Amino acid sequence: MKAIQYTRIGAEPELTEIPKPEPGPGEVLLEVTAAGVCHSDDFIMSLPEEQYTYGLPLTLGHEGAGKVAAVGEGVEGLDIGTNVVVYGPWGCGNCWHCSQGLENYCSRAQELGINPPGLGAPGALAEFMIVDSPRHLVPIGDLDPVKTVPLTDAGLTPYHAIKRSLPKLRGGSYAVVIGTGGLGHVAIQLLRHLSAATVIALDVSADKLELATKVGAHEVVLSDKDAAENVRKITGSQGAALVLDFVGYQPTIDTAMAVAGVGSDVTIVGIGDGQAHAKVGFFQSPYEASVTVPYWGARNELIELIDLAHAGIFDIAVETFSLDNGAEAYRRLAAGTLSGRAVVVP
Ligand code: NAD
Ligand code: ZN
Ligand code: ZN
Repeated sequence: MKAIQYTRIGAEPELTEIPKPEPGPGEVLLEVTAAGVCHSDDFIMSLPEEQYTYGLPLTLGHEGAGKVAAVGEGVEGLDIGTNVVVYGPWGCGNCWHCSQGLENYCSRAQELGINPPGLGAPGALAEFMIVDSPRHLVPIGDLDPVKTVPLTDAGLTPYHAIKRSLPKLRGGSYAVVIGTGGLGHVAIQLLRHLSAATVIALDVSADKLELATKVGAHEVVLSDKDAAENVRKITGSQGAALVLDFVGYQPTIDTAMAVAGVGSDVTIVGIGDGQAHAKVGFFQSPYEASVTVPYWGARNELIELIDLAHAGIFDIAVETFSLDNGAEAYRRLAAGTLSGRAVVVP
């Protein structure tokens, strides 16, 4: 079967031909119907050899949707042909965090060698993929897999990040979204649907901000050196109750801290170069502001998102690519010329 793999440190991902996998006991084989391309893939492929821990060759793709093609021994209650999306942050299923649905924070995954698809295990950018357990599948019924697959990460990660801050998003409050790409454009929609906050979106060009406005941002601001001042002109002295940084480089984290209000949440989702940090301390950060770095989301939260998709709340922007030109999706992602999410349709 065809797959898009990262084969060599520093090289571009490439189209390869690999054997079609067979589901082992407890596993499920999916015929992939759609697979999303995430900026985190770009980050891991930028790592030098000594920091790269995902194995080579790596079949990419940690956002997956498919049809159940076969099940391994012991898997019951899952019909062949069912349309599903994949919950990606696989955990052990049994530790305290996993028992809460928070498999993204499984305390035993590392010790047990459990990795998400596309981030250690073979991913969704292929004609078929193995899912380690039916627990990691959410049926999507008649939803379009191409528009739904971004919810597994570009939706789930902002949903998890926003839910914890909802009590702060009272009427008259402000939420700031920095970076309105794959994750950010879904975050704006979630904020609009779930909260009463005025949503202010920041990105680097008018084109990007156009998408932000289209999906519901009340205000847009260019993310330049004057960004914090321009956001403050909107929020006044109260600042933002929630700042979501989907970029995570030093300048955006500095902007995030500069627009945060007293008692706010500053939530850094973007990985940036993996080196940037928020300055917290007296005269550095607002009183009682909390800075957090969340990772992906909980299993129940993906089920909730699929319910929201059935309710028709999302307008997910996608650009589609075939497996044959999957490498082009990564080039466009790295160049910052995508609008919304790149989705590969095998
Ligand atoms: P993306 O490339 O689709 O979107 C990034 C957006 O940020 C683009 O619109 C880009 O124009 C904009 N941007 C770039 N520099 C900016 C700046 N200085 N100011 C404002 N906007 C700027 O990326 P994505 O797939 O949405 O991922 C966003 C980030 O989140 C990445 O760093 C990714 O690695 C990370 N991520 C984290 C998690 C997690 O669990 N924490 C999950 C998924 C992705
Ligand atoms: Zn991702
Ligand atoms: Zn666990």
